[in-house]
Amino acid sequence: MKPIARSFVCDIPVYEPGRPAEEVAREHGLDPRTIIKLASNENPLGPSPRAIAAMRAAATTAHRYPDGGAFYLRRALADQLGVAPDHLVFGNGSNELIEFLFHAFVGPGDEVIVGDRAFVIYKFMTRMFQARCVEVPFRRHTHDLPAMLAAVTSRTRLVFVASPNNPTGTRVTNRALASFVRRLPAHVLLVLDEAYHDFLEDPPPAIRYAQRHQVVVLRTFSKMAGLAGLRIGYGIARPEIIRSLERVRQPFNCNAIAQAAALAALRDHAHVRRTRALTTRGLAMLMREFETLGLEYLPSCANFIMVRVGDGAARCRALQQQGIIVRPMDGYQMPDWIRVSIGTMRENRALVRALASGCGSSRAKSGAPQRRRRKTS
Ligand SMILES: *Cc1c(COP(=O)(O)O)cnc(C)c1O
Repeated sequence: MKPIARSFVCDIPVYEPGRPAEEVAREHGLDPRTIIKLASNENPLGPSPRAIAAMRAAATTAHRYPDGGAFYLRRALADQLGVAPDHLVFGNGSNELIEFLFHAFVGPGDEVIVGDRAFVIYKFMTRMFQARCVEVPFRRHTHDLPAMLAAVTSRTRLVFVASPNNPTGTRVTNRALASFVRRLPAHVLLVLDEAYHDFLEDPPPAIRYAQRHQVVVLRTFSKMAGLAGLRIGYGIARPEIIRSLERVRQPFNCNAIAQAAALAALRDHAHVRRTRALTTRGLAMLMREFETLGLEYLPSCANFIMVRVGDGAARCRALQQQGIIVRPMDGYQMPDWIRVSIGTMRENRALVRALASGCGSSRAKSGAPQRRRRKTS
């Protein structure tokens, strides 16, 4: 048969998500309940118990279409953020909002500026909309904002900054961001992707930027709130920008169960506190253990961490055979690194044990522990 898709579509790279636990279990003949998934920066504590109760209740009215305007969620979130309800737009995950931004603002031949180690979806979308992707090299593993500013031309439409960034876990400083926002020319829209902002101790005044400047702040219920499976995120921006995004949105893009769960999660501050405490503890433990093992890592501001392990793809495969799913980084031109989400302490310890046993490293091809024991007295 003749290929009938448009040629640029055939050239769009395929995003490789973290593999589902069930799939890995099937492949290696393991019990899915024993799989440790540290591959997609999910909340290891699960959804907030309040969100689960809200989902159960919402299930009984699932025969109805959802509220396309997300009235209750919008009102509660606007309240919590201190913005007007018309400063918000909801998406089927914040990934969908990235697509809305392209629909509304980017045409063929336009330019989009991204960091070369930034979240890869920006680059993929740029291809999808036949725009030109201007990749600016990262500096010290984070966005080089002065260089990104220097890359702006009259054709620039969007500039993407993820802080903390996925996969590097690094952030831009509040000072650098303030200066960047002030200097960006008026024809450019800054997309500040804050999927992990809840993990920052000292977050930037992003909402103020979204209210006063050409800035869209993207957030999600997938990470801190633990609702990745429901697909719900939101954007904050001035009403004239929001109105354009609303025009390209399908009427029922956020389902009713997701809206109900997100609303309940907003009110569950205890779950956020527990998650934050676990993340801090897990990160500290992993960094300590990586140091002991002599593994280089990137200090992280989020709920995952990059660690340099040699052949990342091989080590991912070996870890998978032992039921631990992590993420190879060859797609980010960092083939010796893997990205590991912070899990429960038990999961983190299992990962450290597997890495310490040389699982998948050139020292231990079989994946079995082969390191010589040091003599202990
Ligand atoms: C996870 C993630 C998102 C979005 O996730 P959704 O589940 O689509 O809300 C956006 N940006 C970054 C940088 C992420 O890591």
